[in-house]
Amino acid sequence: MLESVSLYLHVPFCHTRCYYCDFNTYAGLLSLREPYVRALLTEIELAGEMARTAAGAPRRARTIYFGGGTPSLLSAEQIRRLLDACRAAFAVDPEVEISLEANPGRLSRAHLQALRAAGVNRLSLGAQSFDPHLLKLLGRTHSPEDVAQAVRAARSAGFDSLNLDLMFGLPEQTMTQWRETLLRALELGPDHLSLYSLIVEEGTPFFTWVQEGRLVPADEDLCAEMYEYADALLQEAGYANYEISNWARPGHECRHNLTYWLNLPYLGLGAGAHSCFAGRRFSNVREPRQYLRLLASRQRPEAESETLSFETQMAETAILALRTARGLHLPSFRERFGLDFWQFAGQRLRHVSEAGLLEYDGTWLRLSKRGRLLGNEVFLCLLPDED
Ligand code: SF4
Repeated sequence: MLESVSLYLHVPFCHTRCYYCDFNTYAGLLSLREPYVRALLTEIELAGEMARTAAGAPRRARTIYFGGGTPSLLSAEQIRRLLDACRAAFAVDPEVEISLEANPGRLSRAHLQALRAAGVNRLSLGAQSFDPHLLKLLGRTHSPEDVAQAVRAARSAGFDSLNLDLMFGLPEQTMTQWRETLLRALELGPDHLSLYSLIVEEGTPFFTWVQEGRLVPADEDLCAEMYEYADALLQEAGYANYEISNWARPGHECRHNLTYWLNLPYLGLGAGAHSCFAGRRFSNVREPRQYLRLLASRQRPEAESETLSFETQMAETAILALRTARGLHLPSFRERFGLDFWQFAGQRLRHVSEAGLLEYDGTWLRLSKRGRLLGNEVFLCLLPDED
């Protein structure tokens, strides 16, 4: 799998900006959609050239993920052209997982059918909450009923792998509201659930409102309680918690996201997209118009790049794997890096190990139940010392 890549295609457009959002996305730029798609087609071609194997063959691609922003704002025909370009530039697996993020409002059944026909086989809906007041507080423009309708439309359009994103730890959110949201989500029978606790990021309206005292962030203990409640409820309903924030029915784990957690190579294409490939981490220019200008003259839009030291690669591989339920497979670690994991990390992990944050069965190392709540303490121990 180290020889293949996953492809992430970023679509930086939204109808409006949610109040908590710090993603690289823009409202009011919908007229740039077609020029942006054309630029992305060029970048896919250039990336395919750059990523060719040592023998000059197209690089194998295992998953394709349309993220944003709101990728469902592109037409199915635009998505089809982008997928054709991926197939021309990379050796895309016949069984490729193709995910697309969509917003529940304004999502017609005809559009979903056309997306499915274009090859998208996994849909991720940004439901966030089933409480109308909280949706409004977040700046979301859809209603709980829009989510239910979108799920029904997606199922009838042939999507048999469906994710719902939900948020907890919201200002003013009570445990009762969270429970109700989870139950409403389960009633819709998604195959996968991603649950994110709100992080108030600098530069967002939420951040300003917290600074001004107009918004009170959620209590940390309540957030932990919400997480534990959700985990118990979802596991009982048949969803396995295969990564800290993700639950899936058997066979519905997101293969694209597993790429990140297994620290495997990926190429991010589009404005502001991030890549990790051939021992380097790099990212594109963020501003869509600058991105268009560079691609118009067939220049790769790379803005920043960092060569990853061997130690950083080992630490990141361990940290990302420890976020998953299975944990880190120590024989694979040794095979990949030619070094015994304990030789690399035994000393660093001594304290957290003694504190009961880790479990080791002789092959797999994973976070204990307590360790999952205090994962950052473990991860910090693994990071290389700063010079
Ligand atoms: S829909 Fe998603 S990407 Fe767009 S503004 Fe809201 S949170 Fe951000």
